[in-house]
Amino acid sequence: MARESLTNKQARLALILDRLAAAYPDAKVGLDFTSPLELLIATILSAQCTDERVNIVTKSLFAKYRTAADYVDVPVEELELDIKSTGFYRNKAKNIQACCQQLIERFGGNVPTTLDELVTLAGVGRKTANCVLSNCYNIPGITVDTHVTRISNLLKLVNSQDAVKIEFALMKLMPEERWNAFDHLIITHGRRTCIARRPQCQTCVIRDCCPSAQ
Ligand code: SF4
Repeated sequence: MARESLTNKQARLALILDRLAAAYPDAKVGLDFTSPLELLIATILSAQCTDERVNIVTKSLFAKYRTAADYVDVPVEELELDIKSTGFYRNKAKNIQACCQQLIERFGGNVPTTLDELVTLAGVGRKTANCVLSNCYNIPGITVDTHVTRISNLLKLVNSQDAVKIEFALMKLMPEERWNAFDHLIITHGRRTCIARRPQCQTCVIRDCCPSAQ
């Protein structure tokens, strides 16, 4: 098959996003939060864990821990117990305490508003940073999770499993103002239709735009 031009790919993606926006008008981030700190903690907890499980855990967690200092002021074993069911809890508890300590020491207990600052925090990579920036501060960013990786490859928008390469390749394919919506739409599509191992191609609204349709 001939290599698709950048312009064609951009036009195809624009159509894909229009269709998905019409299909999923309720698409939004799956994690529950009411502040940048809560989303930061929820995103750290979401590694190797479903949003549903994280939301169950954070319901009581956020009632107990309201500030960065609250996370630092308890013994790590107590925090481990509070987040245990999200998996990898020892590492996550260690990162959360280190991250909150850095927030207190360097940012007055607040969550910073730039990617460069966010990625210096313990347990925070580009995925978490972009998630916080786009959902809390409305700053354009593409959060590359497993759904975005899988579906961007199926749609042949990218040809890579490397999150950073995918992020930069996608940035070239659409205007900034679509980046945040892109995440919500693709992740919702991945949960409801283009499900891993059993994609529902027959009912997929972007079937005619998808080179992997079955
Ligand atoms: S056609 Fe199938 S593989 Fe392509 S996006 Fe839709 S569900 Fe996924």
